[in-house]
Amino acid sequence: MKIGFAGLGVMGAPMARHLLKGGHEVTGFNRTFAKAQAWAEATGGRAVETVAEAANGAELFVMCVGNDDDVRQVTGEALAHLPAGAVIVDHTTTSAKVAREMAQAATEQGCAFLDAPVSGGQAGAENGQLTVMVGGDAEALARAEPVIKVYSKGIQHMGPSGSGQLTKMVNQIAIAGAVQGLAEAVHFAQVAGLDTDAVFEAVSKGSAQSWQMDNRWKTAVRGEFDFGFAVEWMRKDLGLVLDEARANGARLAMTALTDQFYAEVQAMGGNRWDTSSLAARLSR
Ligand code: NAP
Repeated sequence: MKIGFAGLGVMGAPMARHLLKGGHEVTGFNRTFAKAQAWAEATGGRAVETVAEAANGAELFVMCVGNDDDVRQVTGEALAHLPAGAVIVDHTTTSAKVAREMAQAATEQGCAFLDAPVSGGQAGAENGQLTVMVGGDAEALARAEPVIKVYSKGIQHMGPSGSGQLTKMVNQIAIAGAVQGLAEAVHFAQVAGLDTDAVFEAVSKGSAQSWQMDNRWKTAVRGEFDFGFAVEWMRKDLGLVLDEARANGARLAMTALTDQFYAEVQAMGGNRWDTSSLAARLSR
């Protein structure tokens, strides 16, 4: 397929690389052009300086940019140049509101817009093992699915536009609670004077086991917080979650509290630390 790709960052660059390996013709655009050039040199893809060039003639337009404003900007420019019938797949984590707005705008241009946020982090993108939660038209997804598959281990259609983003919010709510639980468990083990390696062996095989425990217990004990998804991004995501909860009435006391804990981590200089750095707040 002829594919335009916008946003060649931590997540987008490896996704676009997988698309090339899958035999697609990929034209890459990034706000900072040097990053697009570096991607093109490393992969053999084509780098362009405008969204218009990436969108021109593309059957599929994939993006993984930063936030709501970025998605509004890139989608607006892309829709001015995409041919009728094109499908936009947005892997950015945004509000459900912007997903619905963009889907409406795309429909008016004879195109389709799928909100398709991902879970799996940088490692998932590098290894082509992302989980994708999709909102929008089922027929558009049927066309995009074989392409998205090259970097995904699971693709789930969640319902109408916005429901992919709402599902990603569920994911982030569950992660926030799991990470704060792990941080307090590590903290308690240390304060109690236990051997933290032995505690891990004892509790990680039972019902306290979790991905966070398996992957972040030992690093949190060592005070290492350089493992991917940054606090800055988590605060953006929890902001989206709490906005949505204010609108739909969901009661997210624990999520709101954890968001404030992340604000404290930022005040400690941890903006770019990974999400497990909630443990650092407790060991001050
Ligand atoms: P990133 O490394 O900052 O990449 C974003 C890329 O998009 C950057 O290269 C940026 O260009 C480009 N961009 C941003 N706004 C743009 C615009 N208006 N026009 C054109 N290009 C633009 O971030 P990331 O880690 O890949 O994350 C991207 C999205 O995926 C975010 O919404 C994030 O929440 C979500 N996500 C991330 C992870 C993760 O583990 N990192 C996991 C799941 C979901 P510049 O080079 O100019 O900055």
